[in-house]
Amino acid sequence: MAAAFPQGANDMPTAISRLRELAYNVWWSWNDDALQLFEHIDPKRFAASGYNPVRLLNEFEPGQLASLSENASFLESYRKVMARFDDYLQGASWYSTNYESSSNARIAYFSAEFGFHESLPIYSGGLGILAGDHIKSASDLGIPLIGIGLLYKKGYFTQKIDALGNQQSEMAAYDFTQLPLQPVLLDDRQLTVSIQLPFRSITLLVWSVQVGRTRVCLLDSDHEANAPEDRAITAQLYGGDQDMRIVQEIALGIGGIKALRALGVFPNVYHINEGHAAFLTLERLKELIQLGLPFHVAVETVRSATVFTTHTPVPAGHDAFNIGMVEHYLGPYFSEVAAHKQAIIALGQDQKTGLFNMTHLAMNTAGLRNGVSKLHGQVSREMFKEFHGHTDANEVPIGSITNGVHLDSWTAPAWKELFDRFLPGTWREEQANTHQWAQVEVIPDESIWKVHMQLKERLITYARKNLAAQRARNGESQERIDEVRGYLNPRALTIGFARRFATYKRANMIFNDLHRLKKLVNDPDRPIQLIFAGKAHPADYPGQDLIRDIYRISQMKEFLGKIVILENYDIHMARYLVQGVDVWLNNPRRPLEASGTSGQKAAMNGVLNFSVLDGWWEEGYNGTNGWAIGSTGQADWAQQERENTRSLYHLLENEIIPLYYNQGALPHQWISRMKRSIQSLAPVYNTHRMVQDYTVQSYLPTAERATLFVANQYDVATKVADYKQFIRNNWHQVRILAIEDKLPPSSEAEISPYDAAPSTKKVRAHIHFGPIWPQDTAVEIIYYEEIDESWHQKTVHMEPVGELIGQAQYFEASIPGHLYHGPHFSIRVRPISANFAHSFELSLVTSTLAWQEG
Ligand SMILES: *Cc1c(COP(=O)(O)O)cnc(C)c1O
Repeated sequence: MAAAFPQGANDMPTAISRLRELAYNVWWSWNDDALQLFEHIDPKRFAASGYNPVRLLNEFEPGQLASLSENASFLESYRKVMARFDDYLQGASWYSTNYESSSNARIAYFSAEFGFHESLPIYSGGLGILAGDHIKSASDLGIPLIGIGLLYKKGYFTQKIDALGNQQSEMAAYDFTQLPLQPVLLDDRQLTVSIQLPFRSITLLVWSVQVGRTRVCLLDSDHEANAPEDRAITAQLYGGDQDMRIVQEIALGIGGIKALRALGVFPNVYHINEGHAAFLTLERLKELIQLGLPFHVAVETVRSATVFTTHTPVPAGHDAFNIGMVEHYLGPYFSEVAAHKQAIIALGQDQKTGLFNMTHLAMNTAGLRNGVSKLHGQVSREMFKEFHGHTDANEVPIGSITNGVHLDSWTAPAWKELFDRFLPGTWREEQANTHQWAQVEVIPDESIWKVHMQLKERLITYARKNLAAQRARNGESQERIDEVRGYLNPRALTIGFARRFATYKRANMIFNDLHRLKKLVNDPDRPIQLIFAGKAHPADYPGQDLIRDIYRISQMKEFLGKIVILENYDIHMARYLVQGVDVWLNNPRRPLEASGTSGQKAAMNGVLNFSVLDGWWEEGYNGTNGWAIGSTGQADWAQQERENTRSLYHLLENEIIPLYYNQGALPHQWISRMKRSIQSLAPVYNTHRMVQDYTVQSYLPTAERATLFVANQYDVATKVADYKQFIRNNWHQVRILAIEDKLPPSSEAEISPYDAAPSTKKVRAHIHFGPIWPQDTAVEIIYYEEIDESWHQKTVHMEPVGELIGQAQYFEASIPGHLYHGPHFSIRVRPISANFAHSFELSLVTSTLAWQEG
């Protein structure tokens, strides 16, 4: 299936005929030489285009670029870039070298937002940028993956801050012919798919963005066949009400599957990136039911091929709809699978709230699930403990793969040049290997500081422009506008704080003691300064209050020009900030930041993290590569706020400021901390490592299981589905009849040579199974052991002894001699199968602990 450049590909002079092809592959967004090539054409126009190569080229009449094909230096750069581009597209990759011959994986990655570049505004913040970075690394690594998303005509909103500090949100419709978007063509016409809504059918146009080797298909409801209100379905990202949200999610999930089919793509791994996309599993169920599969077999088939990444550590953050709304909007869908309507609703219904919860749907239809940092994995396991029949939180089948960022997109070119000079030639491809980064040690301090100071000055220039533009637009006096030129001092310790203004991120925490802050900011010898930026969702009034508060503080005499708040935080501004400040501050309420990624961007640019031990920083911080605010203890919000505030000021005054200003010509100790930060964090918190983890832990095993499940007319899927049904129907017959734990030690019992008492003993349990085969269960002893001041669950497998008599059998195992049933250990029985994706796939447990009975 072809895709075409809307402007026609042949209007370029022959010598540079592939320039448009390059503009239409956002590969340029992370390749500095390609960006320079476009800049070379016309630096002013390139900046005015929003650094958008497609728009830049569209500004020239055919023929106007002819002079470029006579410009020797341009031609040389062009040839070099195109040669690298071709090598990239055709060359071997991590995946082709290691897995292509052994796996048939084909992955579809669904996400409501994608952030590739500032010129393609179909993202709002962290989630979208993560998805964009995931796609970029998938391309770099050669993963056979296709992305699916929505194309928002008006994107997210543009933020302005008025002279009172109020956020103004603005929306403009984008002209798709000016963006790196290509209509997907079928027989010379743009491909469309349709989804059914109550009393009408909606036509969705299919577009694609080429991201290196990887393609992302985007659906767009702005088609003339649709009613005006339906043309607006994909108008705005996170705009509108619940009705709009559910319709968008139907377009993404159900429309997305239809688009894949229209493209002839049949993946064996479907990755749901956050609950928004979970309706994809409903469309997959329908396909299988219509093929004639029984419902329970269809569910197992879908589950075998689905993986789910959850991003939200609070239940209130999960999308949920009332059942009436689901019945209404999915009415046409349910009419096609009428017999299974209740069973399908049950897949998403949260028993506690009665709502249809997209996270529950994803949990119930994904074989593998993961959170986005180790801590977030743990929080998610706690959160879904009940959902999984009260198993111990550690056994809840939700893993974690910690987020990362696309290193080539986020690291300043000047830093990459240093790495090119001092690191092994393979550092880019093997960036996830810690050894590649050892040589950061030998980069001269002078070189590091020179690069850092250049980036800091670049940020300050950028910030002043942003502030001057704010003031000019707000009709302020020329004097107030000019004043900005003296704002921010390149020699002052500069702290950055930029992220969504959600209240849990506590953007105003550093203002808890204004008096103390005044002293730090106005210290004549060792001043600090602060740069803030971020959008608050237009419906988030407490978030907008934060913006206003910070704006007002920034206008106080003592803080003017030393605390600033910039408007319209986006990928472009983020690059300046994470590359140009000295310290990156992050102080969310723990554990509400699932991962956080801006600090990872900062780290690869030698910027030091100063953060609460939440999300990725809990695992990234090693005591020497930045600073940790507060502790990992549990505390209520008020206490956490007090402790964190105290810790924040204490670290600033006693560690951060003294270290920064402990400089002769160069702050050697600070630089050595920058080096440790890069060495320890850059190899881990990049999306190459992350996508490799997804591939090895999630995609490859899922592709294998999905292939197994559908082989021979869904033979394994049918067996697993029937087995689960049988177990569910008969599990109530599993009973633990008796436990003997005072048996004398048998002759084989280990006798410690240093201790007369036997160190182990045998425990015997008598279990009734009913019609279930004992081989289809695991019988286990569970006890807890204290290691490093925390309790860890120990599981000891029990072996059958003797024959099955009257549906009951004895089991035995050895455990430490001092443990007794009841106070110290319990026994449990759970169903197992080699075809389960994980131990607790069926949340059925029979246990001698009353609360564990499933
Ligand atoms: C990286 C990034 C984010 C996410 O940052 P967090 O630290 O996860 O809050 C949000 N917005 C923009 C523009 C970014 O570049």
